[in-house]
Amino acid sequence: MAMFEKVLIANRGEIALRIQRACRELGIKTVVVYSEADREAKYVKLADESVCIGPPSSALSYLNVPAIISAAEVTDAQAIHPGYGFLSENADFAERVESSGFVFIGPKAETIRLMGDKVSAKHAMKEAGVPCVPGSDGALPDDPKEIIKTARAVGYPVIIKAAGGGGGRGMRVVHTEAALINAVQLTRQEAGSFFGNPAVYMEKYLENPRHVEIQVLADEFKNAIYLGERDCSMQRRHQKVIEEAPAPHIPARLITRIGERCAEACRKIGYRGAGTFEFLYENGEFYFIEMNTRVQVEHPVTEMITGVDIVQEQIRVAAGEKLRYRQKDIAFRGHAVECRINAEDPYTFVPSPGNITFYHPPGGPGIRVDSHIYQGYKVPSHYDSMVAKVIAYGDTREQAIRRMRIALSEMSIQGIKTNVPLHQELMMDARFVEGGMSIHYLEQKLADKGEVKG
Ligand code: ADP
Repeated sequence: MAMFEKVLIANRGEIALRIQRACRELGIKTVVVYSEADREAKYVKLADESVCIGPPSSALSYLNVPAIISAAEVTDAQAIHPGYGFLSENADFAERVESSGFVFIGPKAETIRLMGDKVSAKHAMKEAGVPCVPGSDGALPDDPKEIIKTARAVGYPVIIKAAGGGGGRGMRVVHTEAALINAVQLTRQEAGSFFGNPAVYMEKYLENPRHVEIQVLADEFKNAIYLGERDCSMQRRHQKVIEEAPAPHIPARLITRIGERCAEACRKIGYRGAGTFEFLYENGEFYFIEMNTRVQVEHPVTEMITGVDIVQEQIRVAAGEKLRYRQKDIAFRGHAVECRINAEDPYTFVPSPGNITFYHPPGGPGIRVDSHIYQGYKVPSHYDSMVAKVIAYGDTREQAIRRMRIALSEMSIQGIKTNVPLHQELMMDARFVEGGMSIHYLEQKLADKGEVKG
């Protein structure tokens, strides 16, 4: 198939702009769909064409499948890029896109479905030789006796997780047998009402893991490579705050081994496009937790250390091209750190939408800013609060952090509150600078600070 002439971008904000830039570089025309709240956004005006798909509420706009499909029809787009969030991991949407005669820029609907159910995803990964967190063999049965037996075999503490879970919801840690059955019932109920799927499963609860993930790229001819790892352990409420590549202090041979396993798993399941295998890493071992079948917020840190444009590669393989890289073509150079800049109070985390009265982005060697904001832009209250990503690259981690400190000190966003002060503090934090903290580090630090203040 020839390269697309026109791609519809079914997303908003920085990622809509990011995808637009990738299309432009490939000589592809863009159609941006937008809600009434995003009418004035510059990337909407920069697009070759734009179509309003509904009112501000995402349920009526960015999640409105018929409106998005008709926008593709009236503009004669050939393919749809879903970005991240919204419909990006919705197998029914991918299916509708393809059955309406468009290309979905992502994996096949059946792959999204397989990976979207964490029980089937874990099963597929085990089969493919990817190490998983020890736990129940599939979904938990109804029989309390069986559940108790499983927990004894796994060993406390355990975590009960919804098969259809996402966004850090639908999980419960259990420390004692007395609390087990009640916890399973509660998680089942939540899972049923949040995700429409009451199935839950059990895992060993790892006490001090790091979040380390592997980026992969695959084409439909079963060529698959890995683009190294990212450390996303700096989290608040299971949401990533800072990401970096490579992951500090993990021996390269361990990354090579797990990376090769992931690439092999892609070939086994017929994976197509960009994807991420998420792992918890503890005591030198990787444990698979889930796969994201889309581009991720933190993809730029990998782009910085590999020189591969992940979004362009997604588009190329969706157009039927063969992967242009083999594993031996991928070299890792330097270190990159990303700070997610959110419109929120840096101490209470309360969202802070509104008018940006002054904006000055940072620059200089090694600095990349992915953002759709500008002076005079109004941050809508209807969506995620992330307004920018600042990425700093350096020959070493120390240099990347130094450059990030300078970038954050230059950056000025006025009129709304942002978490820039929090990032400035973290870039000076001795433990962060050392590197290799667990997923609990940031929460613990924030809790300690709260106690000191209170
Ligand atoms: P979601 O899809 O909701 O993001 P994940 O399965 O990716 O759910 O888990 C989200 C986060 O929950 C992980 O990054 C980790 O912080 C925590 N978590 C999940 N499973 C475990 C486990 N077995 N042990 C310890 N922490 C876990």
